[in-house]
Amino acid sequence: MTTSAYRLILHPHDPHALPDREALLATLRTSGFLGEPWSGGEGRFLVGERFFHHVTFLGCSPHVEVEPPADGGRGFTHIELSPPLAIPRLFSGEVGSPPRCRRCRHSLEVVPGEALLVTCPGCGAALDLEGIDWRHAAGGGRLLLSIWGIHPHEAVPSDLLLGLVSRGQREGWDYFYSRF
Ligand SMILES: [Zn+2]
Repeated sequence: MTTSAYRLILHPHDPHALPDREALLATLRTSGFLGEPWSGGEGRFLVGERFFHHVTFLGCSPHVEVEPPADGGRGFTHIELSPPLAIPRLFSGEVGSPPRCRRCRHSLEVVPGEALLVTCPGCGAALDLEGIDWRHAAGGGRLLLSIWGIHPHEAVPSDLLLGLVSRGQREGWDYFYSRF
């Protein structure tokens, strides 16, 4: 598995929320989190000059490549903001411990897709997204902010970044790790 396949994904805690994408891009650009658009993909950006103030790396000396490789590949740390989705989708990161039912704590298998209800195999409850304890292993929503090239639990979004993305919204944002 190449580094490029791993990412840290941020999304509004409220799966139905759809923040203004352009306003969000402007905020993230001004703060130095986001750099120039990158030609390697739609909605993809290089990291900004203050990227490392927004993402906290947990290891002692992580190797983080932020320059695009000469071969045009995606194997470096960069940022992607998804297009707004018409309806919320579930996403599974398939790393670490699975999400759990908030009622009975049974582990849940989250199948990526458009379903907003998950049936708990433990207590039989039909859980909406608020009924799931995500444990940073999956998530859902209508807008995703991906930081590519981050391995699971290698880094966390700083309070600064979580404050910026949730600015002007009723609820905060959450995050999870993915190997896709
Ligand atoms: Zn349950």
